[in-house]
Amino acid sequence: MTLTRTRVRVEGIVQGVGFRPFVHALAGRLGLAGLVGNDAGGVFVEVEGAAETVERFLEALATEAPPLAVIERMTATPLPPTGIRGFAIAPSEAGGERQTLVSPDTATCEDCLRELADPADRRYRYPFINCTNCGPRFTIVRDVPYDRPATTMATFEMCADCAREYSDPADRRFHAQPVCCPACGPALALLDREGRPAAGDPLAEAAARLREGAVVAVKGLGGYHLAADAASEPAVAALRARKHREDKPFAVMVADLAAARRLCLVDPAEEAMLASPRRPIVLLRRRDGDAERVAGSVAPGNRSLGLLLPYTPLHHLLLATVGRPIVLTSGNVSDEPIAYLDGEARERLGGIADWFLRHDRPIHVRADDSVVRSFGGRELPLRRSRGFAPQPLDLPWPFPRHVLACGAELKSTFCLAKGGHAFLSHHIGDLKNYETFRSFTEGVEHFRRLFAVDPEVVAHDLHPEYLSTKYALELDGVELEAVQHHHAHVASCLADNGEPGPVIGVAFDGLGFGADGTIWGGELLVADLEGFRRAGHLEVVPLPGGAAAIKEPWRMAAAWLDVAFEGRAPDGLAVVGRNRDRWERVVALARSGTAAPPTSSAGRLFDAVAAILGVRDAVNYEGQAAVELEQLADPAERSTYPAEVVVADGGLLRLGGSDLVRAVVEDLEAGVAPPLIAARFHNGLAAATVTACEAIREERGLGTVALSGGVFQNMLLLERTVSALDHRGFRVLTHSRVPPNDAGISLGQAAVAGARDRSQDGGHGEPPPPPGLGPRTGG
Ligand SMILES: [Zn+2]
Ligand SMILES: [Zn+2]
Repeated sequence: MTLTRTRVRVEGIVQGVGFRPFVHALAGRLGLAGLVGNDAGGVFVEVEGAAETVERFLEALATEAPPLAVIERMTATPLPPTGIRGFAIAPSEAGGERQTLVSPDTATCEDCLRELADPADRRYRYPFINCTNCGPRFTIVRDVPYDRPATTMATFEMCADCAREYSDPADRRFHAQPVCCPACGPALALLDREGRPAAGDPLAEAAARLREGAVVAVKGLGGYHLAADAASEPAVAALRARKHREDKPFAVMVADLAAARRLCLVDPAEEAMLASPRRPIVLLRRRDGDAERVAGSVAPGNRSLGLLLPYTPLHHLLLATVGRPIVLTSGNVSDEPIAYLDGEARERLGGIADWFLRHDRPIHVRADDSVVRSFGGRELPLRRSRGFAPQPLDLPWPFPRHVLACGAELKSTFCLAKGGHAFLSHHIGDLKNYETFRSFTEGVEHFRRLFAVDPEVVAHDLHPEYLSTKYALELDGVELEAVQHHHAHVASCLADNGEPGPVIGVAFDGLGFGADGTIWGGELLVADLEGFRRAGHLEVVPLPGGAAAIKEPWRMAAAWLDVAFEGRAPDGLAVVGRNRDRWERVVALARSGTAAPPTSSAGRLFDAVAAILGVRDAVNYEGQAAVELEQLADPAERSTYPAEVVVADGGLLRLGGSDLVRAVVEDLEAGVAPPLIAARFHNGLAAATVTACEAIREERGLGTVALSGGVFQNMLLLERTVSALDHRGFRVLTHSRVPPNDAGISLGQAAVAGARDRSQDGGHGEPPPPPGLGPRTGG
């Protein structure tokens, strides 16, 4: 037998995930000698034994790694054999460049659930049970290296039993930093609004209060939730009223997949999303007749329902004790960020919650629940936060210098990038809220420290009033890189798919600052990561009253009808009647051009059509009218409204929104049912988009289309556009790792900044020429 010795370096998420015990056990099973240890770059292993056994070891290292481990790179180097025996865990080595990754918070694993339910186990019914494969991570990490003293578990001193498990390489809690038990770990308490503890077992009492119809604030992983019995109309209505949340649907936590299937239609892909260790909220199609099980005010007028499964032991125990689904929504008032500190929660949620079910393990980073839906069997993220962050996105193009991308404003995230990694932050929220802006600035600092990123290049939006732009402009000693909003959308879709372009980029969203200083939002770009040229856009109309038009879709109806009917909008329309007293004034405002900036926004066209069809004249949350127009549309309807695509000013293609609006009005006046009209409108916009893409393909020879922007959260539009593009022989790129909405902007900005940094001449490179100017000449 020939002895060989090999040194293996493993990089990725390999610390705090049970990698060393796994290596130790694997070497033991194969009878190999050597050692394993952590250092700043990841895990290092030395194994010695028969050549073929070492081969098998290397293979198993990659294929049998623990569930939370993400191996990004494995390099093996031969060493001279030493003849040593046994396999040891080497002490951690400090120093070197910090490369290790912090893993996301992870749902309670099967092994822990078994112990949780075992009366003989010392952690029987203990709400904070965890192990190397599960439990809190990102939300409790204060600093690196990821070790107990650097987490919010630092103040809990391990008992002798826990310490033994923690230091035994054969134990499944070996070096699980949050390890604890009833003797030494966090404890639950149920408090009333005044902070007085309730008598009895906190969990049983909280469950009883929920069943009686109370609203209970529950401290979770990344913040406080507000819970209520999902079947109780009075409880859910009270929660809605106190939270000042008029219509936006609430998420519902169900005990298991069987319970999910009782409320919604769940296909295998969706089951996998629900049950994944990330445990996002999954938007699902409701079953008819779920009315007895879910109160009407959980998701009023909505065909889909957001469900999630328990992801902490506390959730598992609570759901089992309550015995039915509960509403579990962010612990905040209206659009404030989720409360995560105990004091602030009592203060801010005191007017909403009757009771507080809390514990004494501090939360270091606020993280909302993530939200996904299924598109073509793939995950389409709408909010990427708890369970996903801070796992980096791998990009095939290394960043020459460290980058910070500051994102947009309303659905803010930031992104730090170095090497081949993009660290996209958790969902931060609307920066115009002071508290949210503070968590943005603190979050940037936290990520910089955690991942040892020292940005030299800072990317930002063109919008001068975004707080993220202002933040970027105030940084000293960095190179600034301005990235146009819709270019960032398309770049985020390219980065999401690991493709450099060039592509035909379709970016449909609410509003974004255009390269020409006007407001864009229905854009067709010819783009790669470095640059873009506008190739076409939706017809331009005034935005009467600016921001007021976003809150009041009927204003967009006034603007669109005025343009579509050239000042002679049919007078008998219901939307005109409902807004009679202000209609003429708003039409005049739109025509005046003062306080009515021109926009090509696709989102605002949806608003206009929603108002014309009587869906709603004013919104309570961003995008509501468009969401409800999608809900209204009959998905079985296949006929479509024709919309002209013409070459207009400046050689740009123009998609005729007016044609769609006129067709909507004609059908409405002819008595066609609104669900059919809504569907034909969706189909018409999809068809016009595809026609425009074909024209661009003709000119430029580009056969790939990237779809991005918040409007493509609309599944009907997305599905119709993708299938029509497919049908015409296009390759279509959609999102599956980051949201198509503004939460993906920071990744796009980072990708653009990185590409410009890489470009050979060191400058910004030439953006591709507009259609009609011939092929790109390079350089
Ligand atoms: Zn576990
Ligand atoms: Zn203990």
